[in-house]
Amino acid sequence: MTTRDECLALDAADTLAPLREEFSLNDGEIYLDGNSLGPVSKAVSTRVSDVIERQWAKGLVRSWNDASWMDLPTRLGDRIAPLIGAKPGEVLVADTLTILLAKLIGAALEQRTNRDVVLTDAVNFHSDLYIVEAMAKRAGRPITVKAINRDDLASELSADVALVMLTHVDFRSGEMLDLAGITDQVHRAGSLMLWDFAHSAGAVPLDVDGANVDFAAGCGYKYLNGGPGSPAFLYVRSAWQNFLQNPLPGWLGHARPFDFEPTFVAADGIRSFITSSPSIVALAALDGALDVFDSVSMSDLRTKSLQLTDLFLELVEARLPGVFDVVTPREHEKRGSHVALAHPDAYGIIQALIARRVVGDFRAPDLARFGFTPLYLRFVDVYDAVEILANVLETGAHRDPTFATRNPVT
Ligand SMILES: *Cc1c(COP(=O)(O)O)cnc(C)c1O
Repeated sequence: MTTRDECLALDAADTLAPLREEFSLNDGEIYLDGNSLGPVSKAVSTRVSDVIERQWAKGLVRSWNDASWMDLPTRLGDRIAPLIGAKPGEVLVADTLTILLAKLIGAALEQRTNRDVVLTDAVNFHSDLYIVEAMAKRAGRPITVKAINRDDLASELSADVALVMLTHVDFRSGEMLDLAGITDQVHRAGSLMLWDFAHSAGAVPLDVDGANVDFAAGCGYKYLNGGPGSPAFLYVRSAWQNFLQNPLPGWLGHARPFDFEPTFVAADGIRSFITSSPSIVALAALDGALDVFDSVSMSDLRTKSLQLTDLFLELVEARLPGVFDVVTPREHEKRGSHVALAHPDAYGIIQALIARRVVGDFRAPDLARFGFTPLYLRFVDVYDAVEILANVLETGAHRDPTFATRNPVT
């Protein structure tokens, strides 16, 4: 078993270690929930203060021009583009993820009007399932949404399938799907592919260009650390941009918003997917949060992420053999950046850990979920977290009756 001293040595040799300094983290706390809400970085505070105290307070309405506020959705899109393997002009930051999925689903269905089936994963995130059902109902023609076992995709694909919508890293198990392989399989059936990158962007290297992805969307507040309720991003492959129509058009996606024309004429390119006024303070936070990614490569982050999850799995198995059912795949190519452990008392375990300042989260019905963000986590944090986890299980602290009732947010 890896020792604490060995973990300290790994930290001393870690070239990413200095990045931790960019974040405001609580002393004495081990934060393993960056997959749910990333922590705040110092650049976020600086950028948000500047927007409030200078651009907004002093510049007032002039800042729409003087501070180029209107360009933020595309400028931030271009900052996210390299993280997902997209080209400039292919990514837009706006709205939140569920809304962006709605836009892409609606737009995609109009590109395959001779097909009437949408395939998605039966264990997809609930919001994805709700929105795909709702958009299918409003498609203007009868559409059947089939929530399938994703392992059966090959046999479910047919000439009726207009669109396949999958989440790239499973929010429960942490299983990562084969981006290029599945996209290719879907294309060979003549269908379009929409990927949800909620648990992928900023966590694992992505190559939407190389994988020939049609459409994708992801979160700003998880691994990108944009803050609670941060705007999300969407990707539309450049080849699609002149065909696709935003099903929720608004004035700021118009070619000439300030001509106030009564008829919608789409702006060129990705801008047509903007509906409303950009949320400038929130975008400023995301802008600051993206700074830390300027100095690292996703492949270096990936290497450390796998080392951290490998270490966690190794230590959990060594310290707590047979206690958990490890639902996260062992194979590196199938693993995202979080690990989920199934246990009947998972809720109490997470609460007992939080009380001991190791923050993970619980996903019903029985998962204890731990996110590993290489930007600020140390190897010794993983070691200490497992020691505390072992202590919780050994002392039965998780059975404390105060953990019997669930918080509204788990
Ligand atoms: C977190 C998450 C969402 C939430 O999206 P919002 O609408 O931005 O709150 C949607 N889908 C998946 C897969 C997620 O992990």
